[in-house]
Amino acid sequence: MEVLLVSPFGYCSGVSAALSLAEKAKREAPGRDVYLLGCPVHNELAIKSLSSLGLRLLDGRKVDLEKAILALPSGSALVFSAHGHPRAWDDLAQRKGLSVYDATCPFVRQNEALGKERNPLIYIGLPSHEEAEAFLANCPHAYFYDAASGDGDWRQCPGSPSLIAQTTLSEEEVHDAEEEIAASFPGAVLLKGRCYATKERQKAIREAAKDSDATIVLGSKSSNNSRKLQEIAASFGPSYLCLDLGEVKALPLEGYRKIALASGASTPREVYFQVRDYLSSLPPSPRMLFKAR
Ligand code: SF4
Repeated sequence: MEVLLVSPFGYCSGVSAALSLAEKAKREAPGRDVYLLGCPVHNELAIKSLSSLGLRLLDGRKVDLEKAILALPSGSALVFSAHGHPRAWDDLAQRKGLSVYDATCPFVRQNEALGKERNPLIYIGLPSHEEAEAFLANCPHAYFYDAASGDGDWRQCPGSPSLIAQTTLSEEEVHDAEEEIAASFPGAVLLKGRCYATKERQKAIREAAKDSDATIVLGSKSSNNSRKLQEIAASFGPSYLCLDLGEVKALPLEGYRKIALASGASTPREVYFQVRDYLSSLPPSPRMLFKAR
């Protein structure tokens, strides 16, 4: 099987730094409890490997994170995720006597810093995503445009708003949102949106998917950037989102001559290499043999 490697793959710089920081928190005081607030990275394999180091995950889908911080034992360490967090939680952690490791990605910080300066402001994002929740908590003057539905309170925004978008949206989502908002606010200007990691991967998968029979994106279904890659590839042909080699092995790949292999920003490189090696070892499809004759 011919495999077209879609680069970049593996962790983006923000996820890589977040995981290193979480490991550092454990290394610096091995006997201390280290808690990860929210998913530091949206990938079950990466979380499993952090858990195996003794790091404890506080999952915002299962617990109220603010209450969880208040319940942590004093002296333990707390790692904030790459997606950002309400800044009020820094004070909570300090009052509790926790050691804080803040893994907020620089691109998320830049969006927040800009958001604090701009008013009126509309934020384009996904309602239940940690990055959007953190942004709206830190910039409470921002109005919200839901990139999935077009809903939100954005129509109530006064004046000519600045626009800031969540870093992991697709080009189409940001473009559609801009168009719809501009119909009500002709002076609206997009200041910042997708981060470079999202842009590069979305551009690369578009090119690769055009040139392949099918595309496999390695990533978790809980990862927004991985789902976006799969959606983009789906507009060019069959595309699959798989967590690991086991899921790839279960795919119906017979008949494909050339497969594009991509990964989300929170997928470990080892998984990418395992799948690359597996796909490369598959015999050419009957269609390829037929074409070769
Ligand atoms: Fe940072 Fe972009 Fe990676 Fe999110 S996807 S952690 S914003 S580099």
